[in-house]
Amino acid sequence: MQLPVVAIVGRPNVGKSTLLNRLAGGSEAIVYDQPGVTRDRLYLPAEWCGYRFQVVDTGGLVFEDSEQFLPLIREQVAIALAEASAVIFVVDGQLGLTSGDREVADWLRSQKQLPVLLAVNKLEEPSTALSLAAEFYALGLGEPFAVSAIHGSGTGDLLDALVAVLPKEQPEEREQAELRVAIIGRPNVGKSSLLNALVGGPHPRALVSEVAGTTRDAIDTLIERNGRRYRLIDTAGIRKKARVDYGPEAFSVSRAIRAIRRADVVVLVIDALEGAHDQEGNLAAKIVDQGRACVVVVNKWDALEKDTYTMNHYRERLREELNFVEWAPIVFTSALTGQRVDKIIEAVDRVAEQHQRRVPTAVLNEALQEALLWRSPPATRQGRQGRVYYATQIATNPPTFVLFVNDTKLFKEGYRRYLEGQFRSILGFEGSPLRFVFRGKP
Ligand code: GDP
Ligand code: GDP
Repeated sequence: MQLPVVAIVGRPNVGKSTLLNRLAGGSEAIVYDQPGVTRDRLYLPAEWCGYRFQVVDTGGLVFEDSEQFLPLIREQVAIALAEASAVIFVVDGQLGLTSGDREVADWLRSQKQLPVLLAVNKLEEPSTALSLAAEFYALGLGEPFAVSAIHGSGTGDLLDALVAVLPKEQPEEREQAELRVAIIGRPNVGKSSLLNALVGGPHPRALVSEVAGTTRDAIDTLIERNGRRYRLIDTAGIRKKARVDYGPEAFSVSRAIRAIRRADVVVLVIDALEGAHDQEGNLAAKIVDQGRACVVVVNKWDALEKDTYTMNHYRERLREELNFVEWAPIVFTSALTGQRVDKIIEAVDRVAEQHQRRVPTAVLNEALQEALLWRSPPATRQGRQGRVYYATQIATNPPTFVLFVNDTKLFKEGYRRYLEGQFRSILGFEGSPLRFVFRGKP
């Protein structure tokens, strides 16, 4: 079973290549050399909220500048579209509707079995985007999506609509289906013990096999829980062997960073008796830099003397100490007794889901309005008031939002942090970093 193919069509210069690159998010191009087809076509893998597909650029095949839909070209497009599950038809919203667009639309409408999404591109100006896009209703292809391939705005809604018309079934792809979880922390906090507890776990069905990691400084262990596969990236394993010969090894930040890079979710382990120090703070900052989801585990909880308040106090203090990842869930475990070790996987599942979550534009802008009401954006001394017009989510893993504002200089760190806090309190996103991109008027 192959990944569904989405073909991008439209006249030259409407922004097809730009949109293709936006959707594929910098993936490596895969060029298939297909016999019987006159041309090699460019396929790019793309993903939206965990749904995988590929986009194919028909750029070289489509519609010459003559605005004439020549029979020969039509044949070529037909070949390109034969394998597509859906089409994104791109038009230029700044230029407006052209006769060439109408010709393409006529032909696409005759392809009854093929879902068509109409992307009205180059509409980065939010105040006029919807009215300019509305003109393209005339093509009779349903709702036009106002997008800007360059800025990314509107592409989230387009992708939602796209995924909705694509086949639900996805091919099994092991490498993709598994969740990569890095277990990092200083030496002796209990990483190996936790790994062993996870593997032995409360579910004896767990499938265990040790496979070599892509780097020599981590050992990957595959486990399966509730039908889901996890690749545990353990930075301690190799060191354990080395320790026999050389004694305990120094904490290697670069090794931890390599593990973070390979992971979807990072489990940052802390020794309950030692608490969090600079090194944990640095690791937390790296996790955010790399845009990874995070779960904090406070291990050796059995070794701590406790009363009823201990856990809450500990949690509060840790949130302050690890302020980079203050949004991360904290799990208190004992690898020694097995206490709450199973909660780690539950938390990993939860944050992974948030990491690839997408908020519809309407909901996002409601949250934005709410935040703006509670506290207006700052103004300059000359009375120039900061304004946020519109927000849109342009990526997942981690969730990334573009905010269109009148002047980016008016939005300093303080207000940006306020907005992130408001988004979190209204929309959630436990365990996932969020990214905000501010864009001023062009
Ligand atoms: P293609 O021929 O359809 O593949 O179009 P390209 O992707 O090569 O883009 C054609 C031109 O339109 C380039 O100069 C792009 O920079 C520009 N362009 C593409 N997308 C946008 C957009 O969203 N906004 C604006 N303003 N220009 C865009
Ligand atoms: P790593 O260096 O982070 O992999 O840590 P290890 O798993 O090797 O554990 C270091 C030491 O802490 C060992 O002596 C473990 O027995 C001990 N240890 C690990 N987890 C726990 C725990 O939950 N409670 C207690 N009391 N000791 C633990």
